[in-house]
Amino acid sequence: MASMVCTTCRKLIGIGAPTIRCAVASCNTGRMKLRFCSVACWEKHIPTARHRKASYVVEDRPEQS
Ligand SMILES: [Zn+2]
Ligand SMILES: [Zn+2]
Repeated sequence: MASMVCTTCRKLIGIGAPTIRCAVASCNTGRMKLRFCSVACWEKHIPTARHRKASYVVEDRPEQS
């Protein structure tokens, strides 16, 4: 299983930890999956991506037993 890394701070996002995903369509069409460890990291992504209207989705990743 590939572990997820925050796009902004490169911190590993732990298994089972909620992940912040950018809800802007252009961020979800490419191959690159943008994932953030926190809303603060997602906010740092907004100016670099030049979003006019930005929103995010919290993805819960419940641990699989
Ligand atoms: Zn981060
Ligand atoms: Zn985005």
